[in-house]
Amino acid sequence: MLKNGIKNKKMRTGRSLNLILWFTFSVFALSIILIYGVVQNILVHKRYYNQIAENLNVAGNEIVNTIANHDGSAPLSKQIYGIANKHGLQLYVLSEDGASKFPDHTEQDAYPEKTELLKKKLEGCEYKIFSEKSVIAYGDTVMIEGEPYYLYISTPADWMNDSVGNLRLVSILTGLIAVVLAFVASGFVAVLITKPVSEVTERAKELARGNYSLRFRQDYYCAEICELSDALEYARTEISKADQMQKELIANVSHDFKTPLTMIKAYASMIREISGEDRQKRDAHAQIIIDESDRLATLVGDLLDLSKIRAELTPDTGSVFNLSDEVYRIASRFDYLKETNGYHIETEVEDDIYTFASRERIEQVLYNLIGNAVNYTGEDKLVRIRLFNIQNGSRFEVIDTGKGIPPDEIDSIWDRYYRSGKSHQRPVQGSGLGLSIVKNILTVQGCPFGIESEEGKGSCFWVEFSVPEQTEESDHQEKTEKKKKTKHKS
Ligand code: ADP
Repeated sequence: MLKNGIKNKKMRTGRSLNLILWFTFSVFALSIILIYGVVQNILVHKRYYNQIAENLNVAGNEIVNTIANHDGSAPLSKQIYGIANKHGLQLYVLSEDGASKFPDHTEQDAYPEKTELLKKKLEGCEYKIFSEKSVIAYGDTVMIEGEPYYLYISTPADWMNDSVGNLRLVSILTGLIAVVLAFVASGFVAVLITKPVSEVTERAKELARGNYSLRFRQDYYCAEICELSDALEYARTEISKADQMQKELIANVSHDFKTPLTMIKAYASMIREISGEDRQKRDAHAQIIIDESDRLATLVGDLLDLSKIRAELTPDTGSVFNLSDEVYRIASRFDYLKETNGYHIETEVEDDIYTFASRERIEQVLYNLIGNAVNYTGEDKLVRIRLFNIQNGSRFEVIDTGKGIPPDEIDSIWDRYYRSGKSHQRPVQGSGLGLSIVKNILTVQGCPFGIESEEGKGSCFWVEFSVPEQTEESDHQEKTEKKKKTKHKS
């Protein structure tokens, strides 16, 4: 069914972790490079520009001062071109209409467009530094021999744009390298994460198909995957245990069904064919049929109980009841063994101990535990039943003097669906499910329980009960009515 379930289930689509990793790494690396590139471009551009502007400013001021203070001792053009050359600048002095005063020996001796530009730029300001096409320029107005002129000094800015362009190229190249590196890094991370995840997933699918032999626990690099594989390993052991138990249950239960059925059939045939006329024999054979039917009824009852208790996740009903009375009542059901089989069943029960639980279920627990003690006690046939107050509640103990339980079996004994020691002579009929029922009931009821056992000396099965929060009216009445309880030994 599970197999078909997997097969028939449509594969859910989702992005591969590999792709997600690669995409995330690339986006991350590219964003960093982009931010870095943009910031660097802006900063470098600004820095170069400021440097050039400062240079222009210094040269411009020097030239303006030279023009203003010119005394005719040396040619003006020589002086101002000396300054311009010193700073590596181009210099123009232009009249209002664009005619060139300096340089005065150029092929083109008019620059109207420059004059227009300067007019526009200098509107409302004393001087101006501005960038234009591939140059950065300084503009000002000067008076030469009483005439107004425009001063235009410029320096090429190509190298600055080239540098910024280079930086951009470097950023793009770095980005490409980052994408490739992200690819490599994501591949590396994928090996560490996705590969083990895929491996674990494959094994989990195998597990779902019923292959319990695969091991999940392995040393992975990633702690979370180790945790996942541990959890799956735990699931695997539990599922295989449950599967094993189920198989055992079916095998043993069918065996347990088969034996009494065979006997019932055999004795019924004997009554019909042989002992029908012989009243004594017929009664004996009929009794066997009745006993075997009882055995079958017990088995079926226990199986039903177990499945019913397993379905109860929380105790549905519960009441406050007198546990001491309950223990006495159940212990007295074994009284017949004292007379018929020579058992010594001792009860040490403190009076009027109350608890809140499902009375019916607790009765079943006490009966199963006492029944087991009777079945497995030693030669002396001694069974001690105790109930006493402890801090925050009470403790029930049933102690036998039997072979005890080996330490390696103590934990699994509650989960065993089979009867060990089938040859064991038992006065109380058991189905092999008694302790499973006990465990399930006590887990649902929330009562701590356990075994203390020493091989060769015997076992003590114990259960702890809580004190009820409020005692019901009816139980108070019950309490006052029954005062007879004292320590009672047999
Ligand atoms: P059953 O007694 O019918 O076989 P249980 O579930 O009650 O089934 O017990 C399971 C197994 O636990 C028993 O077969 C027996 O091996 C062991 N066991 C239970 N009670 C005792 C006990 N008091 N002393 C020793 N072994 C016990």
